[in-house]
Amino acid sequence: MTPAPKPRANVAALSGYHSAQVDVPIKLNTNESPVAPPQAFLDEWADTIRTTPWNRYPDREARALRSAISNHYAIPAEHVWAGNGSNEVLQAIFLAYAGAGRSVLLFEPTYTLHRHIAEVTGATVLTNQRSSDFRIDASIAARSIREQSPDVVMLCSPNNPTGTVETAESIDVIVEAASASGSLVVIDEAYGEFSTHSSIGNPSANVVVVRTFSKVWSLAGLRLGFAVADASVIAAMEAVALPYHLSSATQIGGTLALGFAAEMRQRVDALVDGRNTIESALAEMDVEYWPSGANFVLFRPRDEAHAIWKELLSDGVLVRDCSSWSGLTGCLRVTVGTPEENLAFITALTRALGGQR
Ligand SMILES: *Cc1c(COP(=O)(O)O)cnc(C)c1O
Repeated sequence: MTPAPKPRANVAALSGYHSAQVDVPIKLNTNESPVAPPQAFLDEWADTIRTTPWNRYPDREARALRSAISNHYAIPAEHVWAGNGSNEVLQAIFLAYAGAGRSVLLFEPTYTLHRHIAEVTGATVLTNQRSSDFRIDASIAARSIREQSPDVVMLCSPNNPTGTVETAESIDVIVEAASASGSLVVIDEAYGEFSTHSSIGNPSANVVVVRTFSKVWSLAGLRLGFAVADASVIAAMEAVALPYHLSSATQIGGTLALGFAAEMRQRVDALVDGRNTIESALAEMDVEYWPSGANFVLFRPRDEAHAIWKELLSDGVLVRDCSSWSGLTGCLRVTVGTPEENLAFITALTRALGGQR
């Protein structure tokens, strides 16, 4: 027998990303936007695609896109780097700053892909637990950074799946400790527009803010995300990325989408209203829930969570079952949908909890 080729040991130990892609009427499990981007945007995109020189490679530096991002978010274009979804952006950061023999500190429970992508690059993942209300204690975090000198400190605000928003003061304390240890702080702001606080306009040489078009721009299918960082960090990401990684279709889509910012803000406002509706309904039910700064809400039914998840599914409502995740025993996460979808969720949950109370 010839030996079967073996993947690297740390890869063999990994499992992939498992979020159910199930066909259900009401899909509230992956924090996507419930509505399509504007038709006028799609028309403009399609028209531009027709006249694009497809025999040519895309602009390697994505200049038009970076300049559009720079205008929209009021940051210099040299501080912007775009990738195929924020996950690719995070991968580039970890390839450049983490990798074998290096470490990434994260605060659990948080977005599972942070650990996953860090481990794929061969980095060692160090963890601190959040408090029972899912906050990061900044002074504990600062001490941990001083003691362990991680190469990367990973924050997520608003945090997925808890919805927790870090305060500016708490981020300042963490950034200061990281700066003293030579650590790069990465702040995943996938839900930044839903929140009251962002670090995007507050640049610092050792801070990277990561954003995505997947949620607020209604473009999860586009696969576009970007980092805002010091030019030296951008150069390091550029060095590890594949040439021409961002297709012409993606660059054009992102550039044109930014022309529809007013529509984006309307969608965000509607989703924040929906979030308030869901939180008010949960407050009346026999569940624990955590106030969210994003387009989803984490809650914990008193009854067995997986059974409730199944009950919701039998009513055609798919939410995320986080109940087996570390630190999230008994928890489910619902994405804010359209007003009709939110009502269907509230009705189904009321039924599942056993009461037309
Ligand atoms: C949804 C999400 C993303 C988005 O990743 P993309 O690759 O841009 O689709 C990134 N970070 C967090 C915390 C998320 O919840």
